[in-house]
Amino acid sequence: TKESVKGFLRRNLFVLLTIAAVALGVMLGSALRPHNLTPREIKYFAFPGELLMRMLQMLVLPLIISSLVTGISSLDSKASGKMGMRAVGYYMVTTLIAVFIGIVIVIFIKPGKGHRDSPVASSGTIEPVQAADAFLDLIRNMFPPNLVEACFKQYKTVYKKTIHTKNVTLLWINVNIMWMVVLLLLQETVVEMIPVSGSSNGVNALGLVVFSMCFGLVIGSMKQQGQALRDFFDCLNEAIMRLVAIIIWYAPVGILFLIAAKIVEMKNLAEVGGQLGMYTVSVIVGLLIHGLFVLPLLYFLVTRKNPYTFIAGLLQALITALGTSSSSATLPITFRCLEENNRVDKRVTRFILPVGATINMDGTALYEAVAAIFIAQVNDMELNFGQILTISITATAASIGAAGIPQAGLVTMVIVLTSVGLPTEDITLIIAVDWFLDRLRTTTNVLGDSIGAGIVEHLSHQELQSQDVEVGNSVIEE
Ligand code: ASP
Repeated sequence: TKESVKGFLRRNLFVLLTIAAVALGVMLGSALRPHNLTPREIKYFAFPGELLMRMLQMLVLPLIISSLVTGISSLDSKASGKMGMRAVGYYMVTTLIAVFIGIVIVIFIKPGKGHRDSPVASSGTIEPVQAADAFLDLIRNMFPPNLVEACFKQYKTVYKKTIHTKNVTLLWINVNIMWMVVLLLLQETVVEMIPVSGSSNGVNALGLVVFSMCFGLVIGSMKQQGQALRDFFDCLNEAIMRLVAIIIWYAPVGILFLIAAKIVEMKNLAEVGGQLGMYTVSVIVGLLIHGLFVLPLLYFLVTRKNPYTFIAGLLQALITALGTSSSSATLPITFRCLEENNRVDKRVTRFILPVGATINMDGTALYEAVAAIFIAQVNDMELNFGQILTISITATAASIGAAGIPQAGLVTMVIVLTSVGLPTEDITLIIAVDWFLDRLRTTTNVLGDSIGAGIVEHLSHQELQSQDVEVGNSVIEE
């Protein structure tokens, strides 16, 4: 009837708008492509999308801190301990499954067999960061010496080494751009190899997560005395979520332009044939299997509820991930979808989502494994079982270490490649399609985090209920 159609439209207004935005973005982008816009024009055209990114990023920091602190301080330490264990268990299991799927598919499809079709130009590169260094960096980042600095800096070990050629394709690996500029000026000069303790730009989300968790735990145990702080963070969190509710009105416009601008500026994908094309297909097939079958199946097995209804509630977050290539930037929308559409308990989302967005990246792990084995195939290198095992472990570590920002996974690839002695400069082989795969793996990452929240909520039913009885309220009210 008319009423129910109206009701449906009202309930799903934003989802419908977001889907319409994607469709319009694709059409607008395709219509403008033949006009060969100049980079400057593209920049202006992309501006509404850039604004959405900035707005979302603006909310991420206070959101991570306030949600974790309130989430954890509102639970007793036993309940949060159990919930934490479940979350970590889920992250490990799903990430390993993702890696496994990736490995099976890339071995089966063999995208890199045959002669390599794009030779690599560079002869000298930056000495790769060792897996051990990357691991230490991960732990260092957990304990930022300066919380304010952690809001915009991460620790990263960087090596300096001779640059033999003018090739600068790997410039981005060196986070310390100034150093690279100096090295490029001193071409052919031998610079001895020493680890430089560097810091890279970008939020050290991991450090903030660890701090907020400990802080939440402590003020949770402070009883009456901690009440003022609990109220403060609770109120801050609520206020941020209200800002999210406002930004959501703008999101479809932003997404439309993010997508349209990307379509205008992208290289002709039809030209990506051969090995690179097959590699792209391998990653996509893996992500689809993981996102559309494995994760839903897991959700169903645990909760006995329809996983696809759950996923339908997440649509807006998934599309935002596709548009922004960043699981951190998507975090505000993920929160809203889970809490408003899927009615997941706020004590769970506040606890689980910020951690998930930082360390749980199924899509990235799958992609890292596929890419590494693809590069081995291109180099005609036979991998033995031990090496494949090494790849699966380092791909998992690399996905944990990758920040939730665009193309972070491409940078942490270095760890996986060095661990089995593959040439790191071969990353250049896959750069051409990475922007595209990045969007898809980010979507898978967000899906994995969200399904994780649903599963942990289900498993933690008992603890949540006994907390309710203790506090004397039924559900934390909206
Ligand atoms: N862009 C991804 C994310 O934000 C990380 C990656 O590059 O794999 O989840």
